[in-house]
Amino acid sequence: MAELIGENLYRLDIPLPESPLKNLNSYLIKGERNLLIDTGFRQEPCRRAMAEQLSELRVDMDRTDLFLTHLHTDHTGLAQELLRPGCRAMLSEVDVPLLIHSQSEAYWQDNFDAYLKEGFLRTELRELWGDNPAWDIHPVPFSGYTPVRDGAELRYGGYRLKCLLTPGHTPGHMCLYEMDKKMLFCGDHVLYHISPNITRWRSMPDALGSYFKSLELVSALKVETPLPAHRAVEGGFRERVAQLRAHHESRLQNTLDQVGRAPGQTAYEIAGGMDWDIRCRSWEDFPLTQKWFAVGEALSHLDYLVVRGRLLYREAEGIRRYFPASDQV
Ligand SMILES: [Zn+2]
Repeated sequence: MAELIGENLYRLDIPLPESPLKNLNSYLIKGERNLLIDTGFRQEPCRRAMAEQLSELRVDMDRTDLFLTHLHTDHTGLAQELLRPGCRAMLSEVDVPLLIHSQSEAYWQDNFDAYLKEGFLRTELRELWGDNPAWDIHPVPFSGYTPVRDGAELRYGGYRLKCLLTPGHTPGHMCLYEMDKKMLFCGDHVLYHISPNITRWRSMPDALGSYFKSLELVSALKVETPLPAHRAVEGGFRERVAQLRAHHESRLQNTLDQVGRAPGQTAYEIAGGMDWDIRCRSWEDFPLTQKWFAVGEALSHLDYLVVRGRLLYREAEGIRRYFPASDQV
């Protein structure tokens, strides 16, 4: 059921089966033209929930533009199906080329090679992806997005939304800020109950550093109504931003301690030694997709420390190993 949460503003609850995120909050602003923010996966349960709630609200899709907070498939998956001629599917100009590139085999091969170098097991990568991962993830490549610039303003149903580039979770992640109503459509930049995954991107070599800057940016805004893309809100916005920062600070310390205790580990081994919010007896028992996310998260912390000269890495036989910076020879 869609929920009225403000003037002309609805929250659509889209289930994400088999994802630890549980649901997607899609937001709809009704007006002369409507704006639908984020879509859910290109999967039947999402498609059905979206169709039911749009029809419940009698939304005319011929007058509905889409705004996608970032390139991830739980936000963009249904865009192509929902988009009608003469309407726009807006996405930040940074994420548009990345999303199109991520539909290619070359993109996944590049990731495959990078994760092998960081110690991921070849057998596990094969099991995770088979021979051609790109087709599983993006069954129908689509490129009809309208690129949006940082600072652009959108007007729908009495809302004046400023597009804020908030890189970190993805290089081109955007939040929408309604200054007069003190509302922030957060996408996956600030979530409650879960911390947004921060991983390494080829085009964003210091993802965690970028994320920290983007947290500062939204922390300086007056936000009374945060509208996250997953789950519910709990507690104050600034407090949550501070908690997210503290979470990563303690993980950075944990990474430094681990490398200090046992220099020469790979990112894969370091990720295995971290604490994760997942019910598994051991690192070996982690579902492979969760291992993939965990190694990505460890990499963003390792990169942050390498960029700031607190750790270094050496490569031998195609494998990268991490050492305290004091080990310099
Ligand atoms: Zn995401």
